[in-house]
Amino acid sequence: MSPEVASQIAAGEVVERPASVVKELLENALDAGAKTVTVEIAAAGRTLIRTADDGAGIPADELALAVERHATSKLVSADDLFKIATLGFRGEALASIGSVSRMTLTSRTPDAPAGARLRVEGGTIGKVEKIGAPVGTVVSMEDLFYNVPARLKFLKQDMTERRAIDALLTRYALAYPHVRFKLTEGGTASLQTAGDGDRRAILAALYGVDVARQMLEVLSEEDGLKLTGFISPVALTRSNRKEITFFINGRWVQDTPLSAALLQAYHTLLMVGRYPLAAIFLEVPPEEVDVNVHPAKAEVRFRNPDKVFSFVQRGVRRAILAFTPVPQVAPQNLWGRSDVRPQTTDGRPQVDAAWILAHDERSAGSGQPSAVNGMEAESGQPSSANLQPANFQPETIGQVPLLRLIGQIGATYLVAEGPDGLYLIDQHAAHERVLFEKLMAQHEQKKIPSQALLTPAVVELQPASARLLNEQLPFLEHFGFHVEPFGSSAFQVRAMPSLFVNSDPAAALRALVEDFEEDETPLQNEIEAKIAGRVCKRLAVKAGQVLSPEEQRALLSDLEACASPRTCPHGRPTMIHLSVDLLERQFGRKGAK
Ligand code: ADP
Ligand code: MG
Repeated sequence: MSPEVASQIAAGEVVERPASVVKELLENALDAGAKTVTVEIAAAGRTLIRTADDGAGIPADELALAVERHATSKLVSADDLFKIATLGFRGEALASIGSVSRMTLTSRTPDAPAGARLRVEGGTIGKVEKIGAPVGTVVSMEDLFYNVPARLKFLKQDMTERRAIDALLTRYALAYPHVRFKLTEGGTASLQTAGDGDRRAILAALYGVDVARQMLEVLSEEDGLKLTGFISPVALTRSNRKEITFFINGRWVQDTPLSAALLQAYHTLLMVGRYPLAAIFLEVPPEEVDVNVHPAKAEVRFRNPDKVFSFVQRGVRRAILAFTPVPQVAPQNLWGRSDVRPQTTDGRPQVDAAWILAHDERSAGSGQPSAVNGMEAESGQPSSANLQPANFQPETIGQVPLLRLIGQIGATYLVAEGPDGLYLIDQHAAHERVLFEKLMAQHEQKKIPSQALLTPAVVELQPASARLLNEQLPFLEHFGFHVEPFGSSAFQVRAMPSLFVNSDPAAALRALVEDFEEDETPLQNEIEAKIAGRVCKRLAVKAGQVLSPEEQRALLSDLEACASPRTCPHGRPTMIHLSVDLLERQFGRKGAK
């Protein structure tokens, strides 16, 4: 194998497509402490990728070294590998890019009187020339894979490659809000950030203004770990995981078990098959993370993965619960009129404002009002009472306030009064939530109380369901169900969880096997929660079921005791809130516009 071929193979690990070139060049600029990074591309990066930065530059006598394989200025000893604070450390990127393109490196350090330039073509390194240049570094890569036609064929359509570059730059911009980024193609800028530290503005470039406004802020710090970023509220989801971004120590990590931690945090709050949007930035002490496990540095390994996992899960969960509001009924939904009271000039529903407000109140600490005002001014939102629903007091965040029962209507909803108006509670959804949390709490303590049935119930199932159930029998035991086969496709229920003792055993059993086939090999604890959710749904009081006043009161106080009282385990709301403010407006007592 010629050295040339060997180096092209090595390059393949780092340089897969135009976006990977952009990534390496960006990371070098950031490592050099750049405050401004400009990226120019042509033909979606195939014919040209040029990055210019105002970082520390490369001394003229080190230029040739910089393009050699395994030459890095960032590691001195093997020990350094265990506390890497820079994005690069392998010394492979420039060598790799230079071997599969025509690359020109122009750089000047602050103390050098002039700049220097070096050209590398298909791995052949030229001579260093003196040249006038501003402080910083410009790397110009032309004709990617011109000498490796086989690789050229694997490039996707321009649109796809361009989108990958765009996505990359936007995410780095979000991770480094104090650096100004600019991306241009053919003279037009497709992305430009201010570098003023305002992440929410960059978020808008990533998701659009509307979505960006709704995103909730995550902030948690513990034991040397720090989590910041944004996650979507439970009402904002996607059908895939593509909008989940993790940065670990300033590095975009595309494949991390931490996304499971994120999903677990949303557990039972999202409908099945829906995924949140998230841009999460995790900081871990460098010695607790190994970044040298993947050639393109796209994976990392933690010294203590469980600790990091649960830290992320808790941090995200806290943010979700803090900002999961009771849906406020907008008049147009309730009375079918849209002209009663425009919510905002841009028509976004008022809960969004409430979320943002709640977030601003908390992140501003001791009630610094400027952030709130800034947000109102920016969104054109008049300063009005509807921005401050009573249930956004930090003490009651995630919970429901104490409610006074008024009664039941339509044998379906409970009506209650809270500190700020009227609450309508869906009895079925609420009961589902109550049963689910009780069952899961018992399950976590490994003791689901079970009660034997006086007369065991015999349930006949379809053969396919019977097969499924047979596989799950030992597992059901954990859940307090004692079920035994009874003939070929029938079962005998001998004991049920005490929680469900008044329910129909046959209904419970059917709920246990329902939709089993649909499960896409979930984690064990996901299966458990799913089964629990299904059983609770089946056994919860139904709409149309008349409840005694005692039952109503018990349901209400059980709901108040829930950790996530505002949604059922499948993510639907359990309650609707009509605030005093809304009632006053509707009755024309206040602020009629
Ligand atoms: P690594 O980043 O792993 O060190 P690279 O091949 O990406 O390896 O870069 C090689 C070296 O070139 C770096 O260690 C750094 O010293 C220098 N270098 C590359 N790009 C820049 C830049 N934009 N500004 C300053 N120095 C740079
Ligand atoms: Mg590098």
